[in-house]
Amino acid sequence: MSSPRETSRRDFLKFAGLGGVALGAAAVPALGAAPREAAVNLRAAQAKNVIFLVADGMNLAALSLADAWSRRTRSMSSRWMRLYQERPVVRSLCETHSATGLVTDSAAAASAWGIGERIANGVLNITPDGRKPVTLAQKMMAARKRVGLVTTATATHATPAGFAVTVTSRKLQSEVAAQYLERGIDVILGGGTEYFTPSLLEAYRKVGYAYATDRTQLLARRGSGRLLGLFSKRYIPYEFDRQRDPVLRAAVPSLAEMTQAALNNLAPSPEGFFLLVEGGRVDHAAHGNDALALIHDQLAFDEAIETVLAFTDRHPDTLVIITTDHGTGGIQLNGVGDEDFEGAPAYAGTNDAFRRLENFTATQEATLARLKGQPKQAQLEALVASTGLTFKPAELAKVTDGKTFQALVAKYTGISWTSNNHTADLVEFCAYGPGSAQFPPFLRNDEVHAKVLRATGVAG
Ligand SMILES: [Zn+2]
Repeated sequence: MSSPRETSRRDFLKFAGLGGVALGAAAVPALGAAPREAAVNLRAAQAKNVIFLVADGMNLAALSLADAWSRRTRSMSSRWMRLYQERPVVRSLCETHSATGLVTDSAAAASAWGIGERIANGVLNITPDGRKPVTLAQKMMAARKRVGLVTTATATHATPAGFAVTVTSRKLQSEVAAQYLERGIDVILGGGTEYFTPSLLEAYRKVGYAYATDRTQLLARRGSGRLLGLFSKRYIPYEFDRQRDPVLRAAVPSLAEMTQAALNNLAPSPEGFFLLVEGGRVDHAAHGNDALALIHDQLAFDEAIETVLAFTDRHPDTLVIITTDHGTGGIQLNGVGDEDFEGAPAYAGTNDAFRRLENFTATQEATLARLKGQPKQAQLEALVASTGLTFKPAELAKVTDGKTFQALVAKYTGISWTSNNHTADLVEFCAYGPGSAQFPPFLRNDEVHAKVLRATGVAG
C-alpha cells in the first residue's frame, strides 16, 4: 500500500512520460486526457521541488525592455516571455505592500514569502507584535527537503535572508551569515565574503560545508554535500561588466551557472528541495537609474530561467515560481518624436533612441569605480564618454551633476525614471508545474507562503 503522496507522484511521472504505474486520485493528471485538461490536472498535482525565482525590483517595464532588447539583439523573445507562449503557465498580478505601507523594501517583501505575514520594512521575519514565526526554509527542512539560496547580491542580503532567518534588521548581515549555519541551509551562493569572518568560515567547514571562492571551483564541484560559495567581497558585478572583463568572467560565475551548480547539488535529495534564485542586482541598477545595467542583469536572470526550465524538463515534479518583490525606479521607455516631427508618424524616433543604449560601453557603477577619488568633473566626463554618444557642446555644458547627466541620457535614449526608490505598483507573478493551480489571477505577497506549502504538501 503506497501513501497518497507516493501515488500522486507516480501518477505525475506517468503523465510526464517517465514511467510509473497505476492512476488514482482525481487531483492527478489522467492518462489520455485532452492536452488542455491534462495541463489543468498537471497544475493541480503536488510538487516535490520548488524553484522560486525573484528578479528583485523589477517593474513591468523592466521585463518589457529586457524582452525588447532580446528581440532586437538576439532575434528572439526573452525566456520568460517564451515560457508564456509555449507552456501552461498560471499568471497573476501580485500586490506587494508591507506592514509599513504601500511601498515595501526587500526585507519585508521576502518576509511575506518567508512567514506569510506582512511586517515592517527593514525587518526579517519578526512581526510588528514581536512574534518570530517559523520560516519557509525551516518548514521545508522539517519536511526533509534540502534548501538552497542563490543570489547576485550578497548571500546574506534581504531577499535570500527573508526565506530563512529571523533577525531584527536586514543590516545585520553577519548575523544572517551565522544563522544560515545554525539553521543548516544546504547551499548558499552569492557575494558578500565581508560578512563571513575566518572563524565563521571555519565553523562552516567543521560541519562539512565545501567552500568555493571562484567560478572554476564552483563548476568543478560534484556531489551533494553542503556548499557555501562566495564570489565577491560585496555584490556580484553587474552582468554587463562581468561579460566584458575577461578576469571577472573567469573568476565570477553567472547567475545561471550558480543556479546550475545549486540544482546539481540539490537534485539528488530523496524528499526534494526548495531553491531560491535571486537576480538581486536588477534592483540596484534601478536604484541607480542605469538602464544598461538593468537590462543586462534582467537578461542574466532570464538565462537562469532557461537553466531552471531545462531542469524541470527532466524533473517535472518541480513547481517553478517567477516573480519580483516590488518595482524600483519606475523605468519607462517613452515615445520619442511627435506627429509634427519632420512629417514622420508619432513616436517614429523611439526605436532609434532605444538602440542608442547599444553604444554604451560600461555601467555607471563600473565607470565610477574606475575613477574613485577623482574630481567630480572627471567622473562626469567619464560617464558621458561611457555612453558612446556624441552630444552637442551646449548640452554638455548643462551636465553638472548626476541628475543632469541622467536627463541627457533620457533625452537621447527615451528612457526615464520616476525616482531612485521602490514603487507601489502591482507586479508580475507566474507559476509553472505541479501545484501552480494554487495561485489565483490576483494575489497578495503574504498569500504566497501558504500556497507554496499546499503545493508541496508541507505542513504549515
Ligand atoms: Zn531596492
